[in-house]
Amino acid sequence: MKTELGMSFFTDSKLRSEVIKIFNNYNIFVEFPEVGSRTSEVTFNIKVPLDKSINYDTVKVIYEYLEKQLKIDFIGEKISFICSDDEYRESPLFVLDSTGNSQSAFLEDKGTKFHKETFCEVCGLIQRDQLSPLVIDTSKIKDRYMVNVGPFWVVSEKMVDLMNKWNLKGYDLNPVVHKGPESGSQQAYQIIPKHTLPNWSSQMVYFYFATEPEPCICGIKRTRYGPFHYDKEDLKDMDSDIYLPAEWTHDGRYVYKKTLFSKKFRDLIIENKISKDVRGSDDEKYGSKDWVLEPVILV
Ligand SMILES: [Zn+2]
Repeated sequence: MKTELGMSFFTDSKLRSEVIKIFNNYNIFVEFPEVGSRTSEVTFNIKVPLDKSINYDTVKVIYEYLEKQLKIDFIGEKISFICSDDEYRESPLFVLDSTGNSQSAFLEDKGTKFHKETFCEVCGLIQRDQLSPLVIDTSKIKDRYMVNVGPFWVVSEKMVDLMNKWNLKGYDLNPVVHKGPESGSQQAYQIIPKHTLPNWSSQMVYFYFATEPEPCICGIKRTRYGPFHYDKEDLKDMDSDIYLPAEWTHDGRYVYKKTLFSKKFRDLIIENKISKDVRGSDDEKYGSKDWVLEPVILV
């Protein structure tokens, strides 16, 4: 697995050489950006591998220079993880991040009841427990196999048939409640994983953005998790296809748990042409109906 930091910002074209020079001082190669016809500004999109030679200390020094000396006031950051072919082949589990590069793969909650309580007094993250069936407008599922509703995954009838045929294990299905136009509404089910995985390996990797304050003491807000790392030994008796992790993640407001699916599940999704074999949300092949499943790393 390689970790890559993407940085993007605008600046006046007159400062191009100075920007490039500061990056070059740290052996980071930066392309000379062209100026658009209607503006004197240029956009820099710079990607660097995070490793021993380039780390947070390097990045912070560069940012300080950009902000203080060159008055660049907004730097966008993105951390991506690039897993190898072997990691995709050998991973027994995958974290599902998306079932389509399209807004229509993400449905809104239309009034599910939750019990809410504060999870962290410091950053204000909230934990919520679901008290009622999921309420959504099922007419928006259309011909999709699976859609996302916040932290939850909802499958259509045709996906349920496939999951039964494939003999997948380790989940219950709760019928959702339809709210919206009758026309096009359909029966759909929330996937309820039955089993929770052991804790991540002590070799799990964590990152944060150098433009933000350090992570909250709860260890969740402002922490960017790498691919889930598990000790091989801990997963050897695994016999389900769907799991929740022991650890929380968050969506900015609520803590939640991401759902993991087996390699068998991912292989069948690809074999049955439900999704292409997409490797991350930056993959050029990632289309409106493709699924992004990130492998776990065994250590
Ligand atoms: Zn917190």
